[in-house]
Amino acid sequence: MKNKNIKLLKFLNKIFAMLLIAFLSVSLFTACGSADATSKKDKSKKSKAKNEAEEEEEPEAETVAKKESEESNSSKEKESNSQKTSEAKKEKSEPENKVNTELLWADLMKGNKRFMSGKHTNINYSASRAALAKGQKPQVIVLGCADSRVPPEFVFDKNLGELFVIRDAGNIADPVGLGSIEYAIEHLHAKMIVVLGHESCGAVAATVSGEKMPTRNLQAITESIAPSFEGSKTCLIGGESNLSCVELNAEHSAKDLLLKSSVIKEAVEKGEVSVISAVYHFDTGEVVRLK
Ligand SMILES: [Zn+2]
Repeated sequence: MKNKNIKLLKFLNKIFAMLLIAFLSVSLFTACGSADATSKKDKSKKSKAKNEAEEEEEPEAETVAKKESEESNSSKEKESNSQKTSEAKKEKSEPENKVNTELLWADLMKGNKRFMSGKHTNINYSASRAALAKGQKPQVIVLGCADSRVPPEFVFDKNLGELFVIRDAGNIADPVGLGSIEYAIEHLHAKMIVVLGHESCGAVAATVSGEKMPTRNLQAITESIAPSFEGSKTCLIGGESNLSCVELNAEHSAKDLLLKSSVIKEAVEKGEVSVISAVYHFDTGEVVRLK
């Protein structure tokens, strides 16, 4: 009986041990499974978070790109607007800067007609002198001959302060004359240069004669004028002077303005200044435009 009890106890112990092992195994497995699941869950969570972060980043990147694009567009728009404004300004400023040659010439011709007909403007020089004391703003420059019979202010019936005049024998564009014109363009903003030759010009006649001048200074005049007749069939050195000689000399001086002065050349190229050559006729008092 005692042995039977012992055997039963042993059997129960075995059963208990087996159940315990089974329980522990299940618990362990469950725990591992849970841990694994947790890990997977964590990974999933992390992945989700990462995805979310990436998803969040992507729109951000898109936003930045969009913003940049918008900024770029905005910048382009601004640039375009700025360009438009600049062009508008340019268009607006063009009439101010550009020379209106025909309008200026027409005004001179009106004055010349008054001179021709003897109906000069009744100018009050005292009042004009006082009004101009503070400064001048002549629109027209005249490079004319020093001949006492051809004063540009009279010929064009102009007041004080209206013409910026340079005169020498033969309307030559010499360095001093060119410098004077450059000053009038740059500082007074004069718009048009008229090279005014005249019939029966003594300086032209002396040059055409081909004779050597008695002084170096007089010789300087004829040497400056002589190139005007190179290649001409109508004005020959050693022959008689005629109207074509005067015209050729005025045109030569007009060309010299551009050849010898970069200031004048640039102003003409920009359309800010124009050059006209013309000849005055004694018999009628008329100024005839050549070019
Ligand atoms: Zn002259």
